[in-house]
Amino acid sequence: MADVEVISLAKRFFDTIGLEKLTLNINSIGCPKCRKVYNEALKQYLFEHLKDMCPTCNSRFEKNPLRILDCKEEKCKTVTAKAPVVLDYLCDECKEHFEKLKRGLDEVGIKYVVNPKIVRGLDYYTKTVFEFVSDAIGAQGTVCGGGRYDSLVEEVGGKPTPAVGFGMGLERLLIVLESENLLERAPKEAVDYYIGSMGEKEADYALKLAASLRAKGKSVETDLVGRSVKAQMKYADKIGAKYVIIIGDDEIKSKIFKVKDMASGEEKTVSADEL
Ligand SMILES: [Zn+2]
Ligand SMILES: [Zn+2]
Repeated sequence: MADVEVISLAKRFFDTIGLEKLTLNINSIGCPKCRKVYNEALKQYLFEHLKDMCPTCNSRFEKNPLRILDCKEEKCKTVTAKAPVVLDYLCDECKEHFEKLKRGLDEVGIKYVVNPKIVRGLDYYTKTVFEFVSDAIGAQGTVCGGGRYDSLVEEVGGKPTPAVGFGMGLERLLIVLESENLLERAPKEAVDYYIGSMGEKEADYALKLAASLRAKGKSVETDLVGRSVKAQMKYADKIGAKYVIIIGDDEIKSKIFKVKDMASGEEKTVSADEL
């Protein structure tokens, strides 16, 4: 099931960066057919409580009552606590789809909480919706959210194309990583070459050399801020560069470079073609 695959992908990503304490919330918001029935039931219930809810929720009432379930205001939460639950209104097909999702997640060993309050707030979702939530950053703890959007492609003019996916808040993710002291441990993308330079002319040459190495598929960084050679070496070490080349006048003339292996400290002399 694609929904399980996509959730597994997100989960594997979080495991890789060390974020193991996230809670996965899942829900189904049904298809247009059963959601219509639910929306009516929800509106009927909310209508009685409009005066107890925030202005935003009042403005959502007509167009998108589902979003009211998402509101973080205490008084709205009190109202929605007793609201009808979408899962009770699913049609047979949507019900079976949700059961399949839960079975699939059980099968691959991913823990989840069924949370009928998860609605993702966007009209285009169908059936599965999910969120990965951290309690490390307070109320706005959703670091990743997604779901199924079977009619979206059609709605924007494409061929009917069922789809499922997710989005992620990079800033929130960084805040969570920081608050759990995981930022330092996050895997670093190692740079193949750091090309340092002794001066401005050499820095220009370093850019040229970097371009030719990148064309060969290598990852390369150069000095862009005019650091001293000593500071450049320190920086190369910090970013975990595997090899360092320093460009001076001699290197430009001879096109022969000293390549330092940062792990062993060994230096090799090679020509531009051999790089
Ligand atoms: Zn349905
Ligand atoms: Zn509200």
